Amino acid sequence: MTFVVIGIGIALLTLPALCATNALGPKQRVRTACASVVLGIWLVGTGALLTASPLLLWWHDPREVSIVDFGHLSPGGLWVWLASGLVGGVGTCLLIAFLQSSIRARRRAVFPAWAAKKVIYDELAGAEVRVAPTMEPVAFAVPGPDRHVVVSESVARLAAPERRAVLAHEGAHLRLRHDRYLLVLGAYYRIWGWVPGVRAVVAAHRRSIEQWADLDAARHPQVDRQALSTARLQLRSCDGRDRPAAEAYSESMADDSSVWVLVSVTATVIALMAAGTYGLTHAIGDAARIMASLH
Ligand SMILES: [Zn+2]
Repeated sequence: MTFVVIGIGIALLTLPALCATNALGPKQRVRTACASVVLGIWLVGTGALLTASPLLLWWHDPREVSIVDFGHLSPGGLWVWLASGLVGGVGTCLLIAFLQSSIRARRRAVFPAWAAKKVIYDELAGAEVRVAPTMEPVAFAVPGPDRHVVVSESVARLAAPERRAVLAHEGAHLRLRHDRYLLVLGAYYRIWGWVPGVRAVVAAHRRSIEQWADLDAARHPQVDRQALSTARLQLRSCDGRDRPAAEAYSESMADDSSVWVLVSVTATVIALMAAGTYGLTHAIGDAARIMASLH
């Protein structure tokens, strides 16, 4: 049963590629992809650890292994258990290393108020705006307890409509907690980046996050949609990293098939989630029965 759980997990991990289509809106694309990634990583990780679980018993007392029937919980014997333990262990280490590097990166991104040339509270950003004393065109949002937006002097000197658009865009990143989606996409890339095509899929979803922020900012009555494109042309980077300029997205890009794509993608995700949860419950039940029979 654990092989089924791992299989469903891998199927969920391929879904971000399926929902990177323009037929879905950026918010739906990113949310569906991230939900699939979180559940996929969890199912593959738990499935691999359950498959490797007989190793604990083998290590404790090799004689006990011979009297237990592992056929249903983790078939395949010692080499399959060792391979699963290795995959589970390496995956867990990669995930922990990624989370540690993300925490360090977030600490580095914090721009202290004392170092700012000017600090103001902005309604559109919904946070404190700290102006960095540099002419390098930079604008990024820092989430967390001390959430703030950092802009360079060149951005602070933009004409009012463009400045408002930039601040509303960064405020949308903060309010919609886009940092969490970026964290999930980063973990996905760290673990599965070696698979051909995953790099392009992650880049597409990162662009979708930028489009989502643009759409949210443009809903504000004080923000002119055109000003967002003008401001973007004047900014070489977004969120402090060099990345290609985000493509502008409009609702009209979603074609007539969007409803069906949304329904089919959502139905696939729900079906895989239900099958994965059932498979996992079954496998955990098997493991519990084996443990109970030993003591
Ligand atoms: Zn952005």
